[in-house]
Amino acid sequence: MIPDYHIHTAMCGHARGGMEELVRKAIDKGFTEIGIADHLPLLYTDDRVLSMAPHELPRYVESVLELKERYSGRIDIRLGIEADYHPHTMEERLQMLDTYPFDFIIGSVHIIGDWIFDDPRYVDCYREIDLDGFYLEYMRAEEEMVSTRLFDIVGHPDLVKKFGDRAQADLAPAYRDLLVKIKEAGACYEINTAGLRWPVGEMYPEPSFVHLGAELGVPVTVGSDSHCPEDIGRDFDHAIALLRQAGYGETAWFKGREMSLRPLPLM
Ligand SMILES: [Zn+2]
Ligand SMILES: [Zn+2]
Repeated sequence: MIPDYHIHTAMCGHARGGMEELVRKAIDKGFTEIGIADHLPLLYTDDRVLSMAPHELPRYVESVLELKERYSGRIDIRLGIEADYHPHTMEERLQMLDTYPFDFIIGSVHIIGDWIFDDPRYVDCYREIDLDGFYLEYMRAEEEMVSTRLFDIVGHPDLVKKFGDRAQADLAPAYRDLLVKIKEAGACYEINTAGLRWPVGEMYPEPSFVHLGAELGVPVTVGSDSHCPEDIGRDFDHAIALLRQAGYGETAWFKGREMSLRPLPLM
């Protein structure tokens, strides 16, 4: 079984399930490796339903490391984190990322300007914008994020489609630019199955991105972006089927910020 590298915990304020409950559920589901990757404090807002507070980060890290130790032999637990890309608060974020022994860092764009565009509370703004322009702005932000070389995995690469608002423009050139940058940076991107649980009803990123990624030889991980125990590993069969269709034969695994490629399991 390939690992689920995108698992949130109750500490982020919008998820359910104690950390140990998550680990037990993952074992029940047959995982031999998982990555807990909750939101790093966002810093651009102190809205406690969006992430833990900065003073809670040490407790997050200690809890994951303690479980990793206690469950060793039964499941390999990786210390991950989902860090936002937000240029104006990067310095403080960098300090937090440098302080702890993360196994991998997911880089995600959740905010453009001052709009947290994936938050259902602010979804009305989609009606007021030029969608094509917004999609391209989002892709540019992801390219910038990758160029910093601070992140290992690009999270949900086309999150902007979450509520079903699709661009008309041809995004292939922007996808290609982003994928080339990811490869140059020695990073990868994730197939994130959570899109299936939102109005868009499709995994992130869309299949054409994954096909292009395979063609360009850009490594990939899979994550459920689960916010409750039941969603761990959810729809991994769909993700693996898409990877195979696109021509991928392996996925990326992480330990101590080092990536290795291992063959996809036989179905
Ligand atoms: Zn995210
Ligand atoms: Zn997430």
